[in-house]
Amino acid sequence: MADKRVPSPEEIQKEFEKVVKDKFGGNIQFHTSVQGMPKRPMDSSELTPSLEEQEEKRRQKRQSIRFDYKPKEVKSFLDKNVIHQDEAKKALSIAICDHYNHVIKCLNSPEEPSKNYAKQNVLMLGPTGVGKTYLVRQIAELIGVPFVKADATRFSETGYVGANVDDLIRDLVQQADGDIELAQYGIIYLDEADKLAGSGSVRGKDVSGRGVQFGLLKLMEETEVDLRSSNDMMSQMKNFMDMQSKGKVEKEVINTRHILFIVSGAFNGLSDIIDSRVSRGSLGIGGELKDEKTATEFFHQVKTQDFIEYGFEPEFVGRLPVRVICSELSEKDLFEILKYSEGSIVKQYVESFKSYGIDAVIDDEAMRAVAKKAFEEKTGARGLVTVLESIFRDFKFELPSTGIKELKVDKNLVNDPKKSLNHVLEFAKNDKRSAARIEIENFEKDFLNKHKMGIRFDENSRRKIADLSLSQGVGIDEVCAKILQSYEHGLSLIKQNTGQGEFVITQDVVENPKKILEKWIRESYSNL
Ligand code: ADP
Repeated sequence: MADKRVPSPEEIQKEFEKVVKDKFGGNIQFHTSVQGMPKRPMDSSELTPSLEEQEEKRRQKRQSIRFDYKPKEVKSFLDKNVIHQDEAKKALSIAICDHYNHVIKCLNSPEEPSKNYAKQNVLMLGPTGVGKTYLVRQIAELIGVPFVKADATRFSETGYVGANVDDLIRDLVQQADGDIELAQYGIIYLDEADKLAGSGSVRGKDVSGRGVQFGLLKLMEETEVDLRSSNDMMSQMKNFMDMQSKGKVEKEVINTRHILFIVSGAFNGLSDIIDSRVSRGSLGIGGELKDEKTATEFFHQVKTQDFIEYGFEPEFVGRLPVRVICSELSEKDLFEILKYSEGSIVKQYVESFKSYGIDAVIDDEAMRAVAKKAFEEKTGARGLVTVLESIFRDFKFELPSTGIKELKVDKNLVNDPKKSLNHVLEFAKNDKRSAARIEIENFEKDFLNKHKMGIRFDENSRRKIADLSLSQGVGIDEVCAKILQSYEHGLSLIKQNTGQGEFVITQDVVENPKKILEKWIRESYSNL
């Protein structure tokens, strides 16, 4: 019988996508979001809250946004995790305090918005992996506001149907679990913003990037974003269902006035623009020093006009008054990240070994050696992850099955992990072999008690059993029982035929238990 059930919006959406893809090909991607629908079910009172309810909600929000920090306190918090980047931490702490003090002021007295306040949106510059995202994430966590990170390339790529900058705001609502009020105080972090720059002097060529800049500009100023996107199938389905059931579409909007925008990028090539401006001003002196300066040293002299020359719209740069520069990390910084950062990746590895009962201890020399290798990767702190992953991959695979309780990580292990792993495994084998001796003797005793026949494992078979137990990650008892599973019956036959009451278990038996038993039985009959 046909299914008469009314399909859900998700099912309708799936069907619709299938039809469109069949018709227009697989290149079409759909931007799907559920932001139009808060995760928790809505009741009618939530759609039209009373004044008291609105005030109560505001009061709760004021409490959930914990903001009574001073810039120095924010910086000390950041210092616990983020190594180096002192200037950036300072500048960000000030901007964050200004912004959220203003937000709290507006929350407390919504009737008197301050007209003179310019939002402290941030433009962050710095190479990859030096802590830009990490800083912003930490701040969002400290204040308790939702945080969205996106790559600017998401909006300028072709073939991506429906991604527009408003989606960022809807993502923020999703991050806030559908809590629109909270989302209004969130942070949007847009990485790779340098990719939005037009083509510098030939302005107007790069249409998509400029379009995105203007879209962002609107959001950064103040606008209301409809939570039901016209590009999002699910939202359209909701609208359709609203029309069907209520005769009108319920509109849900979010105001972007208090959303903080932080855009960042590596800005390759910007240092050349700064350099030529500076050298023009100083009759060529700047140019001579260029080779000795890093890009971030140039960034400290950046001016709005450099961004415009780089390809940014003046209005766009104008909305990003706070400039924060994150500099390259040195080998020493990388070592300090490993050793001192509360979010150090080393902790992750220690915990991961710990869950197998292994205490991993990484000494300073080892951390220095890791930092050295990571520095050569030229990807900032991201290099630490790459290096540690390649050092520890085999250890993480092998050690959990060895029964090893301790792993000392020193410089030698970092520089030649394969050799160290072999040592560790050899040590584990010997250890296992001596522990196995007692367990095998117990197995022999049990066998004698149960079956009134003696078995004795010789030296080679004992070693073999210990190795099998190690490589298969199962106990000695289990290995012995598996080998001798049909021996009880076979050996009693032999005992009947020959009177033999004790048997020596050799390596051959361990390797080919069935074949050897059959041979023994045959021989016992031929001797009758
Ligand atoms: P990006 O500058 O490209 O945004 P991220 O902030 O994403 O770099 O850095 C990647 C990871 O490297 C972070 O999650 C963090 O663990 C570590 N990291 C980067 N920079 C620092 C730093 N200055 N101090 C401590 N950890 C850092």
